[in-house]
Parts: sequence; structure tokens; C-alpha cells
Amino acid sequence: MNMVDRKEVIIIGAGPGGLKVAEGLAQNGKKVLIFEKNLEIGHKVCAGGLTPKTFRLKDIPITLAETISHNVEVHAFRKTIRVSRKKEFLIATVNREKLGQWMLKKALESGAEIEFNAEVVRVKKNSVVLKDGREIEFSYLVGADGGLSIVRKSLGLSSEKSLMAMQYSVPSFSQNPEIFLDKDMFNSGYAWIFPHKESTEVGCFDELKNARGLSKRFHRWLKNQKINVSNAKLQASLINHDYQGFDFENIFLIGEAAGLTSGWSGEGIHQAIDSGQEVAKKILDPNYKCIQIQQLLKTKKIQERIGKPLQFVVTRNNLLTKILFENLFCL
Ligand SMILES: Cc1cc2nc3c(=O)[nH]c(=O)nc-3n(C[C@H](O)[C@H](O)[C@H](O)COP(=O)(O)OP(=O)(O)OC[C@H]3O[C@@H](n4cnc5c(N)ncnc54)[C@H](O)[C@@H]3O)c2cc1C
Repeated sequence: MNMVDRKEVIIIGAGPGGLKVAEGLAQNGKKVLIFEKNLEIGHKVCAGGLTPKTFRLKDIPITLAETISHNVEVHAFRKTIRVSRKKEFLIATVNREKLGQWMLKKALESGAEIEFNAEVVRVKKNSVVLKDGREIEFSYLVGADGGLSIVRKSLGLSSEKSLMAMQYSVPSFSQNPEIFLDKDMFNSGYAWIFPHKESTEVGCFDELKNARGLSKRFHRWLKNQKINVSNAKLQASLINHDYQGFDFENIFLIGEAAGLTSGWSGEGIHQAIDSGQEVAKKILDPNYKCIQIQQLLKTKKIQERIGKPLQFVVTRNNLLTKILFENLFCL
């Protein structure tokens, strides 16, 4: 085991956010160590849906996409509206394990180190304590540890705004992404069918405050859609979208730990990568302004303030539904 008692930068979590910040720092000469509690990379409940903006970051090659769709079927109020875009695709899907492996390779090639099976159980002002009892000091700490972030908790931040999401991964049965807005089933959340290469991800989310009975409602919806999940395992997870800051002197939060995820769409991979990139720059240059994080917050606000009310009003109108999805989803 790698015995370390001090590192310049410690990153907790090897999701897309943690791997991105590690790469950005290590390639600029910083000594970086990632602690990841899992034994392998990429084990995350996720539909793996990405809009073009993530590929525009030029960090993820389009070759990693398992499917690319120029059409999304939006089902609402007993009708189906086909949203299409010719010039650019609307949604691509990636396999989280493959994405994680690809990002890990880049971080390691840049000089970052990683320890798997290394759960951080306590965060102090200048050190972290691991499950095996080791205590390691840091100059900078990055909390990239997802929706139940221990770093976030150590800063005294709550996570009141969360979504409850659940999904099944079933043998492939669909080629097109579909979104189901159904107020009676999911309130202001939605259900999805996202095609992958060898599977189809079928899931839903609702606000945590409305999550009572969500599993029952989801199964009723699956039955209505005639989707057989009898051999699949239900996976569920919270999605934190409660942003309360990311810069706390020598401690930073990124991605879902920072609550940068969209509370409207549940999308968070893009935000994790983008904020990881920004925080790497901030640690390298304390005067760096993190304009991209401000942009993420602006988008998040527009989606959450306008998206939800609009979702209920406009889905009765084909044209407005197209405008809503083309512009808000891919913002
Ligand atoms: C059902 C579902 C579907 C989703 N679908 C999509 C989608 O289609 N598109 C999209 O963009 N987003 C989606 N999301 C959201 C997306 O998965 C997250 O927002 C994204 O993974 C956040 O990345 P992150 O790097 O911040 O954290 P994560 O990917 O959650 O990574 C955090 C890492 O930290 C590790 N960790 C946690 N605690 C500790 C600890 N104490 N010590 C050491 N390691 C620790 C974890 O093991 C994990 O590897 C979905 C989420 C859910 C639940």
C-alpha cells in the first residue's frame, strides 16, 4: 500500500470531476493523489446521456459515444412529439466505466496517482483520515465525492435540494432516446429510455420531497410501457443539486459534491468535468476567475427557474415543446 503522510493536493473521488481536476493539476506539475473508495472506476448509477456541449469541451472524444441521436421522442399528455436537430445531435450515450477508464488513463499519464479501496471517513482542516486509519495532510483538498460528499458535510453544508433517481439496465430494446413527462407519475421529474450499445437504461427521477412511493409509481409506469425488468437489478441514488459555493480557501467542491448538477434535467457529467477543469486552474492560479463555473450556475438557474413551470405549460404545444427541449436541455 502507498504510505503517504503529506500530499500537495488530495482529491476525494474518481468520478468525471475528480479525474478531470487530477489531470489538469498533474499536467502542470502538481503532486496529486486521488482516493477512491471503490475497487474500480466508473461504478455509478447513471443513464450516461450527454448533450453536445460536453463533447465541445474537447475532453471526451465522440468515439466514446455508444449511440448518437438526432431525434428525441418526448411523450406528454398522451401524445408523442419528435424533437429533431439536423446539424448537431441532441443526445449521445456513454458507458460510465469506459468513460472513467479513459479519463483515468489521461490523469495517470499526466502524473496523477490514485489509490482504490481508499475511503475517506473524516475531513479535517488540513488533513483527511482514511478507513484504514491513516491520516494524510494536504495543502489543497478537492471534494469530488458525489452527492453524499463527506467534504461537503465537513464544511457544514446541507443538501436540501436533491432528486431521487432510479433505473434498470435491461438488454437492448431501443435505438432512440425517449423522455416521458408524466405529472401524475413523476411530478416535475421525468422517466427516460436511453439506448446504449448492449443495454437500454430505463429510469426516472422526482424531487426528493416527492419521492415517497416513487418506486411503486416507476414500476406501474414500466408495466404500462410493457418493459420487462424481471431479470434486472433496480439501482437508486440521490442527485444533489443544492449549490452553496465551491471555493472554501484550501478546500474546493466540484461536480455533484458542489451541487452543480441540473435540478431540472438531473444532468451532471458535464458540470463535473467543467468544474474540475476550472478548479484545477484556480489551484494553479489563485487569481483565476472561474468564469465557466459562473456560466454553469447561470444555465442551472435558467433551467430550474424556467424549465419546470414551462414543462407543464408547453408540452401541450408541439412547437413549444421542441423549443423547450432543443434549447433548455442542450443549454
Ligand atoms: C439514475 C441516474 C441517472 C443519471 N443520468 C445522467 C445522465 O444521463 N447524464 C448526466 O450527465 N448525468 C446523469 N446523472 C448524474 C451524474 O451521474 C452525476 O451528476 C455525475 O456522475 C457527477 O460526477 P462527479 O464526478 O461529481 O461524482 P460521481 O460520479 O458521483 O463520483 C464520485 C466518486 O467519489 C467516490 N467517493 C464517494 N465518497 C467517497 C469517500 N468518502 N472516499 C473516497 N471516495 C469516495 C465514489 O465512489 C465515486 O467514484 C445521473 C444520476 C443518476 C443517479
